[in-house]
Amino acid sequence: MTFSELGLGPEVLRAVEDAGYTQPTPIQEKAIPWVLQGRDVLGCAQTGTGKTASFTLPMIDILGQGRARARMPRSLILEPTRELAAQVAANFETYGKYHKLSMALLIGGESFGDQIKKLERGVDVLIATPGRMMDLFDRGNILLTDIKVLVIDEADRMLDMGFIPDIERIVSLLPRIRQTLFFSATMPPEIRRLADAFLMNPKEITVAPPASTAGTVTQALAIVHREDKRAALRHLLRTEDVKNAFIFCNRKRDVAILHKSLQKHGFNAGALHGDLPQSVRTETLEAFKQGDITLLVCSDVAARGIDIKGVSHVFNFDVPIHSEDYVHRIGRTGRAGMSGRAFSLATSEDGKYVAAIEKLIGKEIPVIAIDGLEQPAFEEGDDRRRRRGAKSSDEPRESRGRRDRRRGREDEGRADERPETRADEAVERVEQTARPERPERSERGERLERAERGDRAERSERSEGGRHDHRRDFRADGRPRPERGHRDERRDERRDDRRRRRDDDDLDEAVLGFGDHVPAFMMRQRARPAALETGGEEG
Ligand code: AMP
Repeated sequence: MTFSELGLGPEVLRAVEDAGYTQPTPIQEKAIPWVLQGRDVLGCAQTGTGKTASFTLPMIDILGQGRARARMPRSLILEPTRELAAQVAANFETYGKYHKLSMALLIGGESFGDQIKKLERGVDVLIATPGRMMDLFDRGNILLTDIKVLVIDEADRMLDMGFIPDIERIVSLLPRIRQTLFFSATMPPEIRRLADAFLMNPKEITVAPPASTAGTVTQALAIVHREDKRAALRHLLRTEDVKNAFIFCNRKRDVAILHKSLQKHGFNAGALHGDLPQSVRTETLEAFKQGDITLLVCSDVAARGIDIKGVSHVFNFDVPIHSEDYVHRIGRTGRAGMSGRAFSLATSEDGKYVAAIEKLIGKEIPVIAIDGLEQPAFEEGDDRRRRRGAKSSDEPRESRGRRDRRRGREDEGRADERPETRADEAVERVEQTARPERPERSERGERLERAERGDRAERSERSEGGRHDHRRDFRADGRPRPERGHRDERRDERRDDRRRRRDDDDLDEAVLGFGDHVPAFMMRQRARPAALETGGEEG
């Protein structure tokens, strides 16, 4: 099938041709005709499948007619992270180059002033992270009554990050008659229920994870002592043929420490995490794309959807706690059919996380040894160890490749003279075909969700910047709301602080699931219930 058979207009087709695309990807083939027909779409697809163009191309066509009015955007795209939002905006620029559509990117960390100015001029496409979007709405800078197309992208990631209450509120503020495009990499029951509430008779489309990553990433695992991790990483960086690499840490503070350490050892490294100013994040990512920085030490903010071609390696300096993050992290390499290599550094305490990852990907990750470093065993009682039938002795485990190499060297009697061996022989190809499971909720996630639930009741009453909406003095049932006291203000501050932090994308631990919060729509039988249309004004 060709792009011209999908029903796209000539300007979009020209832009697609300029981009060098000759054939639509499966998601584009399946989604674009329905989007052009005005249907709601429920897409189960990951990044890397061409998902972004599957909604941006037809949207450009649809929005090509008509004009935006001041502060009344005509379409809204919600993205979980600033980087993804910026990437979608770049897509709009590429594909919309023969149209005169105006676009605003509303992400945290950038000046409100510029974003407000843009909104006032009128925008066709609003691309936003939920936190910043709600801030601007609460300040009265956006009217959502003219939204014709809504895109909720990476819905499962939104769920993990605790954005669902914000999304519910945003949807409640939109016109009832609109087109909704909803994408998620996975479709757990919570996401399915959300889709049922937001979409009207959607066309359901599922595409397999991108074939380009499946089987093109060679994976390996090194078990080392915590204090040896940096040495192990340096060893891998020096012995592997690293053109450029993402190096993932679980915590932001470790990103900073590792970044400094690598620089001290003469590596050309940059750092990316959610506490850095947005200007620095943007610059760093650009420098990495351009090859000015070869190693990008980062938190999971960079794990999803960041599309940089030709990344040769991914290193997990820490084994991710949530197994699905592993799949997203290593998916930064081996893109577009190219091969990539992914190495993870585990400590003896990480056995349970490794076991969860292996269960998810349906394969064992080969263990390699790092020359010169002791290789501890996973802790006693560990799933992975039991499953592998490892001996309970304290003797360090050794991969077959490593053992063979060592034996070979010992046979030759000159082990010390040999250069450090590369990990090649010990690794094998693993297909990333398994579907991610929902990770367990963290304690912190639960706390945040509990606080979030408390805040939702207050949220619609909020009036900022001196504006006061008298309708908000009353509950939906007409009863007056209680006076707001000091505790409410404190709660507001805490909520704003959380929102800012969530908008920073990567908490030290992600917020997972709905928590104890039960969204309004789940309590009702019908899709798109009336309460969602009335601004979520439950008291
Ligand atoms: P996405 O899944 O939207 O993140 O897209 C992944 C990558 O595929 C991006 O680099 C796109 O530029 C690229 N891409 C999207 N559509 C096509 C296509 N039809 N042919 C070739 N590459 C594409």
